[in-house]
Amino acid sequence: MNQNNHIIDLMERVVIGRQLLENLCESFPDRLKKQKVRALIVTGPNVWKIHRTRLEKGLAKGDISYEVHIAEVPHLDEAKKISEEAANINADMLIGFGGGKSIDLAKYASSVINKIFVSIPTAASHDGIASPFASLKGGGWSTSVKAQQPTLVLADLDVISSSPRKLLIAGAGDAIAKFTAVADWRLAHLLRNEYYGSFASGLALLSAKHIVRNREIIAKDQVEATRIILEALINSSVAMGIAGSTRPASGSEHLFSHALDKIAPKPALHGEQTGVGTIMMAKLHRLNWKKIRSVLKKIGAPTNAKELGIPEDKIIEALTIAHKIRPERYTILGDRGLTWEAAERLAVETGVIF
Ligand SMILES: [Zn+2]
Repeated sequence: MNQNNHIIDLMERVVIGRQLLENLCESFPDRLKKQKVRALIVTGPNVWKIHRTRLEKGLAKGDISYEVHIAEVPHLDEAKKISEEAANINADMLIGFGGGKSIDLAKYASSVINKIFVSIPTAASHDGIASPFASLKGGGWSTSVKAQQPTLVLADLDVISSSPRKLLIAGAGDAIAKFTAVADWRLAHLLRNEYYGSFASGLALLSAKHIVRNREIIAKDQVEATRIILEALINSSVAMGIAGSTRPASGSEHLFSHALDKIAPKPALHGEQTGVGTIMMAKLHRLNWKKIRSVLKKIGAPTNAKELGIPEDKIIEALTIAHKIRPERYTILGDRGLTWEAAERLAVETGVIF
C-alpha cells in the first residue's frame, strides 16, 4: 500500500443505552446477527463476578459460543497469550469486558490475529474504551501501542452509572485534557512541522468543551453525567482514529500523568492526573486554566496534590521529567523540560501545591 495514504478506521456501531448486556445480540451489526459466533471474553475477576449473569443471559439469546479469559497484568506478553488462546479456540470475536485493562488486552490481542473486537466498558474513566490504541506495558518507552478500533462499542448505562463516581469523574478529566493536547499538537506543527489535522483537532476539542458546557448536569445527575462523559470519550477516540495517532488526545498533561505513574508511591487514576496536568499545562499555554480548574472543582474532580493523594515533591519531580517520557512527542515542555524551580512555581501558582 502507498505509504502516503491516510487510512481512517472507524467503529461500525456505538450503542449507548440501558439493559444492553442482557440483550447483547440485538446491538450487533446485522452481518453478525446472521451468523454463528465464537467469542473469547477478556475480563477481570471482579467485573466477571458482578456482571456475569447479565452478560451470559445476553449471550444465550444469540447463536454465540464462548470461552472466558480472566485477565492478569496489562502487558504485551499477556495480550499475546490471549491472541494464541483466541486462535486455538477458533474465535471470530474478542470481547473486552471491564475497565481499562481487559479492554486494552482484548483490543491488542484481536488486532494481532485480525479478529473482530467488541468493547463493553464497565466504567467511563478514560478514552481507551473506543480508541484504536492500547495502553500496555512491555513496549519500551512508548505508553500506547497501535491496535484496532472496536467494531462495536456497547455502553450500558445501567452498568457504567453504577460504577464508582470517582471513575466517571476521572473520565471527565481525560476528556478535558484535550484542551492542552490539541494546543501541544498545534505547537509541534508550528515548531517541528509535524502533521496536524485541523478536523481531528477540532473534534478532540469538542470533547473537552462538552464537559465544560455540561458541568452543571455532570455535577448533579449520575446517569446523564455518564452519557455526557461517554459521548466525550467516544468522540475523542474517533478523533484519534481520524488522526491515526494519539496526538489529538494526549499531550504534555498526559506526559505528566505517565511520569506520576512511574514515580508516585501510589498514583491516582489516569484521568484524575491528566485533569490536574491540564490545569498546569494550560497555564504554560496561556489558556484559561482558571476556568478548567473551576470546572474540575465543580464536578468533584481533584485539582491539587492533596486530593490526588500524591506528595507535593512528586508533583514537582513529575513536571521536571515529563518531557523524557516520550521524547518524540514535542509539547510545551520542550526538549529540556522544566527546571525544579520553574516546576515548583507553576504548581504553586495553579494551586496544585501550597
Ligand atoms: Zn488519556
